[in-house]
Amino acid sequence: MAKRADVLVIGAGPAGIATAIAASLKGLHVAVLDYRKPPIEKSCGEGLLPNAVSNLRSLGVRLNSAAGFPFCGIRFSDEEFSVSARIAKGTGYGVRRAELHRSLVERACQVGVSFHWGARVTGFDERGAQAGGTHFPCRWLVGADGQNSTVGKWANLSSQQSRLTRFGFSRHYAVAPWTDLVEVHWGPGCQIFLTPTGDNEICIALLSHDPQLRIERALTYFPEVAKRLEGSRFLTAELGGVTALGRARRVVSGHVALVGDASFTVDGITGQGLSLAFQQAILLAEAFERGDLDYYEIAHRGISRAPWRMTRLLLLMDQSAWLRRKVLRLFAGNPALFTKIMSAHMAEAAQESLKATEVLGLGWQVLRA
Ligand SMILES: Cc1cc2nc3c(=O)[nH]c(=O)nc-3n(C[C@H](O)[C@H](O)[C@H](O)COP(=O)(O)OP(=O)(O)OC[C@H]3O[C@@H](n4cnc5c(N)ncnc54)[C@H](O)[C@@H]3O)c2cc1C
Repeated sequence: MAKRADVLVIGAGPAGIATAIAASLKGLHVAVLDYRKPPIEKSCGEGLLPNAVSNLRSLGVRLNSAAGFPFCGIRFSDEEFSVSARIAKGTGYGVRRAELHRSLVERACQVGVSFHWGARVTGFDERGAQAGGTHFPCRWLVGADGQNSTVGKWANLSSQQSRLTRFGFSRHYAVAPWTDLVEVHWGPGCQIFLTPTGDNEICIALLSHDPQLRIERALTYFPEVAKRLEGSRFLTAELGGVTALGRARRVVSGHVALVGDASFTVDGITGQGLSLAFQQAILLAEAFERGDLDYYEIAHRGISRAPWRMTRLLLLMDQSAWLRRKVLRLFAGNPALFTKIMSAHMAEAAQESLKATEVLGLGWQVLRA
């Protein structure tokens, strides 16, 4: 039997470690279990929006150009149109996933979180969780175990609703960034997005419905990007994974709460998964402090609405070439509108995010374009 924790976190991805740090900063004793061992890699676009950067800062994780590459905005392009928006407030960072994981673990250890690596959780009850023959007693249990959360299933929190699922691949290329923007290139049934992650490297992520499509073949759809990458070395292996839009039915049940992709997952194209994970982590720690997990349930719902709407919009653009062309033509002709929408999407503060009426207004303008 392990020592009793106030909070036991299952999953040491970004959401789990951020929750552990936030709870520890509230004076709670926190233990984290993960069946993998650090540094934990994952297929990811590796863009941290300003909201993620400022929430990390509040947890004591400071990003600088030694850890990643600052970016100042975003550009959308297809074969015909190109439009960009600058971040109004704050900075985004491109940070390698392994580096982000290392920084989070380092900070968590500083604030007294204990880690149990190589420990797969196989079940839990109201007193704690079971991993590798050891019982880990706790007061609160956090499921931070990613998409298709097993904790969510055990706690009967999973939704029966089908998810909008796609496939994602990513790898690093040795090439100096040619821009301080994250570039999203829209192609036939797929997108690639480019995030600078260092002075001499770029992370390329591919998203599509085709599990067979890989980055090198997809680049043939994007000749301009392929030309820029010509002759550059691969710095890492190509990693693959599934990306989806879906949410748990609820995020709290008794002493169990879900965070990160386990609670709500947005398609990688939004670049918002990590921002959401850090916001949720901070809100959940506040709920622990109040001794009221319903506070987290309500707050979680509040911060999920705008990203849900934005993801739906971007996925509609993926599904319909006609709509994508209309939207990009509208934005290219009205860059101020694109800036407004992207500012809301990338906002440092969650309350600046896009409202439902504004999304409806955008839909109306697209139809008229
Ligand atoms: C292609 C792609 C591109 C993306 N690009 C971006 C981007 O640019 N910006 C952005 O913000 N987001 C992006 N995302 C989303 C982002 O990667 C996720 O939102 C984020 O990884 C969620 O973190 P998490 O901690 O919730 O889950 P995960 O990172 O999946 O971590 C879950 C952890 O739980 C552990 N675990 C699972 N089950 C158990 C168990 N039974 N016992 C013990 N441990 C367990 C796993 O080993 C894992 O370490 C992208 C996603 C994809 C697929």
